[in-house]
Amino acid sequence: MFVDDVEVREEGEMARISATLGSQETWFELPSEHFRGSVGDALTCLAMFPAMTGATTEVQVPEQYPVSQRLFDSLPLQQATFQTWSKKLQPVTYRVRRSEGTSSDDRVVSSFSGGVDSLYTALRHNNEITHFVYIHGYELKLEDDPDGQGLARLHRAAERLGKELIVVKTNALTVFSSFRIQRLLIYGTFMAAVAHLLGPRRFLVPSSAPLNYLEPSGSHPMTDPRWSTETVEILYDGDERFRLDKMKCIDEAGMLDDIVVCHYNFEANCCRCAKCIRTMMGIELQGLTRSAFSEPLTTAAVRRFEINNSPDGPPFGEYLDLARKSGNKKWVRAMAYAEILYRLKAILKSLMGLVDDLVTGGRLMSSRASRMAQDDGWFKVEVP
Ligand SMILES: [Zn+2]
Repeated sequence: MFVDDVEVREEGEMARISATLGSQETWFELPSEHFRGSVGDALTCLAMFPAMTGATTEVQVPEQYPVSQRLFDSLPLQQATFQTWSKKLQPVTYRVRRSEGTSSDDRVVSSFSGGVDSLYTALRHNNEITHFVYIHGYELKLEDDPDGQGLARLHRAAERLGKELIVVKTNALTVFSSFRIQRLLIYGTFMAAVAHLLGPRRFLVPSSAPLNYLEPSGSHPMTDPRWSTETVEILYDGDERFRLDKMKCIDEAGMLDDIVVCHYNFEANCCRCAKCIRTMMGIELQGLTRSAFSEPLTTAAVRRFEINNSPDGPPFGEYLDLARKSGNKKWVRAMAYAEILYRLKAILKSLMGLVDDLVTGGRLMSSRASRMAQDDGWFKVEVP
């Protein structure tokens, strides 16, 4: 069956939805008043990646939890797309009881973490959005906010925009890790599962990269809308803007002081990680409000910036162009240094492959690649 032991329980003001995927128990907790969606649709999305690791060839969702016909029809194409991005994934068939979708209401929900992308989407659709949702247990672990200060910060940011913040807690990331599925691959699935538990009319997934820099990712303008049903429309939002432009919009709305983008700290920006540094660069180059960052940006930090470990890899040129236009030689030199290192590493890697092709017919690189694949064993997005 693969999806077993489904349980829906009310505990005080919270609803708890749990199920076993393979042999792993996964659960979600959300306020009962907002649990208005379809458990069958949520489980259909959640089960797909674990099943595609080869754990099963067939997913059966229990009959009492019907699944949207539209969602069911999109599954073969959805799986085929993800197979091109992560070649080890195996296709699976679904056996479900189909429905025309559950009823939805007038809520329009947007995912919200208080970072650049979600704040931009929040401002852009401020008139339409009725609620924000934060999935606690995805970007940061549940234990990463022991005193609740991080969540309190998010509630304050939501209040400033006049929205209610719905917090959904889950252990699903741990479950996906046990199947060795990379986090980047499953972001859209997480969003879709939460959207289907909430059951709003529309659910917005803020984009991370602009359209011309899109790469394979678990959340993508091609795949996110395919998780939609007859009643819940899921949209990928904000890919028409560069991150720098988004930051400017947020600053103009007076909300840049509120952003927290950090990989390592839920409550405040650490000013050291790649996400903090690139945001500080955007602020510095555009002369925007910088009080969300307690430490100054140094040229040493920019020189050390690892472009290949950042979602801003190729778009880094936008930052360099802006530095040139601003005429600030200090930043131009520091950014040029970081970019030169990035490009040299790429050239070196490519040259090593070509020399190997010439001398050994590609034997060294292919054996290295197969060794790495054997050692690793994770299901990852394979960026060309
Ligand atoms: Zn940080």
